[in-house]
Amino acid sequence: MKVLVLNCGSSSVKFQLIETSLDAIERNADEIISRGTIEKIGTDAAPVSCHPAGAPPLRQEREILDHETAVHLVIELLSEGDTAVLSSPDEIDAVGHRITHGGEHFDHSVLIDNKVAGVIRECIDLAPLHNPHNLKGYEIANKLLPGKPHAAVFDTAFHQTIPPEAHHYAIPYVLYERHGIRRYGFHGTSHRYIIFRTHQLLGRPRDKTNVVSCHLGSGCSICAIRGGQSIDTSMGFTPLEGLVMGTRCGDIDPALPFHIMEKENLDVYEINNMLNKHSGLLGLSGTGNDMREIKEEIERGNKRAELARDVFVYRAAKYIAAYMAMIGSEVHAISFTAGIGENSPIIRRRIVDRLSIFGVELDEEANDSCIGTERRISTANSRVAVYVVPTQEELVIARDTVRCVEGKT
Ligand code: AMP
Repeated sequence: MKVLVLNCGSSSVKFQLIETSLDAIERNADEIISRGTIEKIGTDAAPVSCHPAGAPPLRQEREILDHETAVHLVIELLSEGDTAVLSSPDEIDAVGHRITHGGEHFDHSVLIDNKVAGVIRECIDLAPLHNPHNLKGYEIANKLLPGKPHAAVFDTAFHQTIPPEAHHYAIPYVLYERHGIRRYGFHGTSHRYIIFRTHQLLGRPRDKTNVVSCHLGSGCSICAIRGGQSIDTSMGFTPLEGLVMGTRCGDIDPALPFHIMEKENLDVYEINNMLNKHSGLLGLSGTGNDMREIKEEIERGNKRAELARDVFVYRAAKYIAAYMAMIGSEVHAISFTAGIGENSPIIRRRIVDRLSIFGVELDEEANDSCIGTERRISTANSRVAVYVVPTQEELVIARDTVRCVEGKT
């Protein structure tokens, strides 16, 4: 089955065309046929990239003023010109959509019908920056590919197993009842892939595998996985809670926003913007939100960049330690993924150095040489295995789409 995976954000569309089936899933034999991105939608010079497997990639700038034009272009790139991998759009068998928020309604992926689309619309209140674009992606693709099945794969679904003591905030309960205020967690599709691969790498049954999954990218979250299920995660009602991220602050004293608003004469919009877009690595260092820039600045002797790295590392190690304790029995692995987790041996080493009390021991050579590849990076003596597992959210979306179409969810 050829599955088009669409991830429609506020100003971008990411896509992959993946050939897969129930049998291919079983054999780990899925195939990425093409992938690409369209960014800066709404401008006359939107960067477009498309990489058909085994053929030269295309990179160009195009006028793309809205999402409809962008999704239309995705289908055109797949079926026309030098980047074509299909002889007609009709060869697309199904479409899988990344949907940010499914609230408490969805603990697994589903085929989208009018009722499901309505519930996703209801969840806009919980994810006003993401769900409208995700939904728009579905509506446009449904119009351009009439009669094809569409599946919704939710970032929040994997975390629906988090128990009440971990998902409730200690605020008036009525706010949960009236507005659904609780921890939902995000990056669920990525953490699911990490447990899926880690249990295979360990050679243990998934429902008997305990892992701390560390998704460290421009957005960061850590997930405690017991018996294959999420029991806690660092992102909360929104993706702002938890770890230090590229531009997001993560955990702060909840009284801080009021204090800063008063001192700096900011309104709600401005403080929200500050905590989401001007904090994290960027806010602390004053130089950049990218860990590569932070590293370069540290090498130049920049003390604020060093502080940004240290706060990042400390917070990550603190969450891992807490989650190892909350898993409550043997932790089989700590797995690192996403931009920083996959590509930065130095950050992995600094985090793991703080976990020596748990008997976690890195194999320095394995860690240093592991960049963007799947590998065990702990010593044979380490009480907990440490892995690097490059995440593949699109693959999970494609596989879920196949399962939905085949009625196997
Ligand atoms: P992601 O959101 O998973 O695409 O991750 C993007 C982030 O990964 C960037 O903002 C960087 O902070 C980080 N990153 C990517 N490559 C490296 C690298 N080689 N070393 C350190 N950090 C990296």
